Amino acid sequence: MVSALNFGAIVFAMPQTGAILLNVFPLKMVRLACTRCPRKGQYRKATLIQEYGAAISLPTLRLLIAKCEHDGKLGTACGVYYVDLVPKK
Ligand SMILES: [Zn+2]
Repeated sequence: MVSALNFGAIVFAMPQTGAILLNVFPLKMVRLACTRCPRKGQYRKATLIQEYGAAISLPTLRLLIAKCEHDGKLGTACGVYYVDLVPKK
């Protein structure tokens, strides 16, 4: 059972969006690929932090990096994802 106090602490620790931030990415290299286009690439985490800041959320960052032609189009949102964050089946 989670007490009200613990629950409050968890909420406080999370960013408002509930998203994971770049500074907690577990690896030195950030690998991206897209399910909708041939785009893929890898970036140094340190370089990304310099460029975008450590407090950017991963869901926002991937779209900034990809600049995918599908981004923002209704029904065909970019399928860019973090290769190393996909749960292994
Ligand atoms: Zn794409």
